[in-house]
Amino acid sequence: MPATKPQVIFEERKGQIYRKGEEPFHMSCNRDSLAGAVSQRACVFCGSRVVLYPIADALHLVHGPIGCAVYTWDIRGALSSGPELHRLSFSTDLQEKDVIFGGEEKLRMALLELINRHHPQAAFVYSTCIVGIIGDDLAAVCKRVSKEKGIPVIPVQSEGFKGNKREGYNAACKALFQLVGTGNTANVSPVSINILGDFNLAGEIWIIRNYFERMGVQTVANITGDGRVDDIRRAHGAALNVVQCSGATLDLAKMMKEAYGTPFIRVSYFGVEDMADSLYAVARFFQNKDPQIMTRTQELVREELSVLSPKLQEFRQALSGKKAAIYVGGAFKAFSLVKAFRLLGMKVVMVGSQTGTKEDYEELQEITDEGTIIVDDSNPLELSSFLKEKEVDIFVGGVKERPIAYKLGVGFCDHNHERKEALEGFVGMFNFAQEVYNTVMSPVWHFVPRRGKEKSCKQNRR
Ligand code: SF4
Repeated sequence: MPATKPQVIFEERKGQIYRKGEEPFHMSCNRDSLAGAVSQRACVFCGSRVVLYPIADALHLVHGPIGCAVYTWDIRGALSSGPELHRLSFSTDLQEKDVIFGGEEKLRMALLELINRHHPQAAFVYSTCIVGIIGDDLAAVCKRVSKEKGIPVIPVQSEGFKGNKREGYNAACKALFQLVGTGNTANVSPVSINILGDFNLAGEIWIIRNYFERMGVQTVANITGDGRVDDIRRAHGAALNVVQCSGATLDLAKMMKEAYGTPFIRVSYFGVEDMADSLYAVARFFQNKDPQIMTRTQELVREELSVLSPKLQEFRQALSGKKAAIYVGGAFKAFSLVKAFRLLGMKVVMVGSQTGTKEDYEELQEITDEGTIIVDDSNPLELSSFLKEKEVDIFVGGVKERPIAYKLGVGFCDHNHERKEALEGFVGMFNFAQEVYNTVMSPVWHFVPRRGKEKSCKQNRR
């Protein structure tokens, strides 16, 4: 069946879709989602929640209707090596009466009860749409309870309607910044970092911390995977902020640079190339303070690659020439995935993100092949039509993209917060290759014809 171009693009969405090689590069992005387009994006509140959620010894209280709390309950597969208070979802469960008369007293009582019961190191209080509408003074309540209980109680101004998911990241960074600078920085090494933008999905931050440890670098604070309030409070003592994820914690790194002069670098721990580059970038930064650090880093990379490379070769032989589509939250992940698929001999034919910036899309345009579709803030209808048009073998995305792939008879790889498989680091590249292999080569696709290709599949089976 000849490939057809999709007829499902709203006129207003056309500027957010680019086909490499078919037109001059243009990309509208970082704007509010089109009403009625059923965006895959989450709201501002959800953006804040995903960033702050992994702080395991803090109380997270959602001030709003119960639905907002349920929507983000245990939202990431972020593991903790100690306390697990973050996995509980607390809500003030605002009702009609609270909306009419105000919910401040209910919030204060909820905070006091929860702090007495769970003894957290700090509390984050999230504002939701209705709180923004009725005008509860979150900051005043938090200040009062903080004074009463002697712990930081931090308002997160994340009213769902006030922008896109990126605004939520920013609200989370502002909340985190209130903690930074309030702890003791004694015993912080001059060769030290904070890890920003890693959420310890499936224990990934432990893999990365281990690499840095082998290089001789001290990690002061994980922000926010396996995060601890006291570590974040002394994060300003670290010599460098190492920031992964293009959107989520970059604002915090910028705030810390301005307030404490802490420099930052942007990295990615996905794929062989980007993982090695990230370690070398940190080694280069500390080379003057520790002349042996580069040698140790080279040894580490050599050691890891000697184990990984022969294994990847086998997957490469089987997967060579297969086609992949990517739709992720932050574009940084997309850069690494394009390179990782190339390493496996595969071709990326569609790539998109929920929150990419103009710079992100420029970079994607540079690293992708001719004919690749690049898309910002997409929706299920568009994604389905792109997958059919390009006849992809695997779709990489998150929980909302999984059913799209399976309904179309296409393999799927979860690269979002819910996953249980570590995909970062050199070991993560192996896990990724194995998962891609397992889904693309699964015999199940002999029985579930790919939508758009039913005819040829039936003919093949005769
Ligand atoms: S904050 Fe608003 S948009 Fe977000 S989940 Fe709650 S009601 Fe929905």
